[in-house]
Amino acid sequence: MSHDVAIVGAGIVGLAHALASIRRGLKTVVIDRDASPSGASIRNFGFITVTGQRRGETWGRALRSAAIWAEVAPRAGIAIEQRGLLVLARRPEAAAILEAFAATEMGEQCELLSGDAAQGRLAGVQPASLAAALWSPHEVRVESREAIPRLVDWLARLGVEFRFRCAALAIDAAGVETSRGRIRAGRVIACPGDDLSTLYPETYDRLGVTRCVLQMMRLESPGYRLPAPLMTDLSLVRYRGYADLPQAVDLLARLRTEQASHLEHGVHLIVTQGQDGSLIVGDSHHYAASPGPFASSEVERLILDELRETLGTSPAIRERWTGTYASAEADMFRAQPAAHVRHVVVTSGTGASTAFAIAEETLEDLFGPAPGSVLP
Ligand SMILES: Cc1cc2nc3c(=O)[nH]c(=O)nc-3n(C[C@H](O)[C@H](O)[C@H](O)COP(=O)(O)OP(=O)(O)OC[C@H]3O[C@@H](n4cnc5c(N)ncnc54)[C@H](O)[C@@H]3O)c2cc1C
Repeated sequence: MSHDVAIVGAGIVGLAHALASIRRGLKTVVIDRDASPSGASIRNFGFITVTGQRRGETWGRALRSAAIWAEVAPRAGIAIEQRGLLVLARRPEAAAILEAFAATEMGEQCELLSGDAAQGRLAGVQPASLAAALWSPHEVRVESREAIPRLVDWLARLGVEFRFRCAALAIDAAGVETSRGRIRAGRVIACPGDDLSTLYPETYDRLGVTRCVLQMMRLESPGYRLPAPLMTDLSLVRYRGYADLPQAVDLLARLRTEQASHLEHGVHLIVTQGQDGSLIVGDSHHYAASPGPFASSEVERLILDELRETLGTSPAIRERWTGTYASAEADMFRAQPAAHVRHVVVTSGTGASTAFAIAEETLEDLFGPAPGSVLP
């Protein structure tokens, strides 16, 4: 039995391609070597971030993807747990970046707040004194460990076939050679994430792709609800939408003297909140082709220090985990190893935020313009 499209990988990038494919009425199969998705896509914040994404294509893809998440979530039984984003600036140099950002096209619909106004939005919290803040309405947040399996179930109900515990070994003219035999398909889309060794290792080498490992924690509820996910000064020198602005130079210089260890370990703070009030906090960034499995207590302390500086509290740790993603200078690549094959990898920490838009582009590249599909 032949499929129109075979997709390797049931992370968010593969699932987004399965959605784009089934929307076109194509007979679609998804292959994953694990028993269920367990990669980056279930380990992240589930934070579909628009504001702060690299100016241009990535920012545009994030806007489009956030709209698709909002459309898909209710159909797939996925709760949108939080909306929007509040970026808190403690230092005047950080406030200057937010002001410059708000004046760009990326700041459209965002609101620049005074420190006092931001404190007002954080009612119940004992935040550090703030110089300014930026409110963005664009973001949505899901609980990834629940959302991804629900997306799989929903796509299966729409007709996507899933083959788990089935490793793709090679892709050729007839389809995919797997650990459980051949799967025939007219087109193949490889979305293997940060497996740099199995499919097309030479492409990862050529594009300088390595892996990034991040430390994450879930903390007990602080006893109040945050108005939205939070970021702080450290995020403004990491997220390219801010960090590429000329105003970021001054903040980076100050952080180098005041938070050198945070910068050394790639630590910045994102705080999101679950429905039970628990806080999901992270993260850090270390780069290696085979990152070690050992989480560092020093890195954990740096993340929690920044949390304490921001909220005035640091609740007990309930869970710790690490995650990895593919990393390169570009945010993503779409390679064409053969006319009927696309190899699509998000090479930055933006896959949850951009995959749905990337998938639409891939399907258009392979099959031509969409015939105006609607979701069932
Ligand atoms: C801790 C952490 C926090 C993050 N926070 C955010 C965030 O807030 N917002 C955001 O937008 N992004 C975030 N990201 C990044 C985002 O999670 C990734 O960009 C995204 O999940 C990548 O999706 P993927 O499908 O490529 O990879 P994965 O989810 O890793 O999926 C790849 C899948 O391919 C399968 N596979 C690989 N090779 C084969 C093979 N040969 N045969 C069969 N199956 C194979 C694997 O088993 C796996 O299931 C974060 C990442 C991490 C780790």
